[in-house]
Amino acid sequence: MITYKCSRGHVFDEGEMVRDTYLEGEGTRYRYLCPECGTEDFEEAYTCSRCRFFFREDELEYHLCEKCRDELYDEVVENLSKYQGDEREYLRHRFDEREGAFA
Ligand SMILES: [Zn+2]
Ligand SMILES: [Zn+2]
Repeated sequence: MITYKCSRGHVFDEGEMVRDTYLEGEGTRYRYLCPECGTEDFEEAYTCSRCRFFFREDELEYHLCEKCRDELYDEVVENLSKYQGDEREYLRHRFDEREGAFA
């Protein structure tokens, strides 16, 4: 089952999409719409590996949504603040400082 997410954030799966029939020239055509808002602007959705919610591909980095990326980062920074002195220096050495975790 493929899951989709529209540009307004509605999540739905294949079976829930609305099939709209319209006439074009001689023939009848179909298009698929978001069942919530009727937009045609939707894409396949992927789950965030941390919160398991659905996101469009362009909302994920490393399979993580923006909220989880921020949370994860804050968690790390918070934990790092427990370390002082030599331990902190060692960790500073081990981590990539460009990420700014020790800023
Ligand atoms: Zn929608
Ligand atoms: Zn997430």
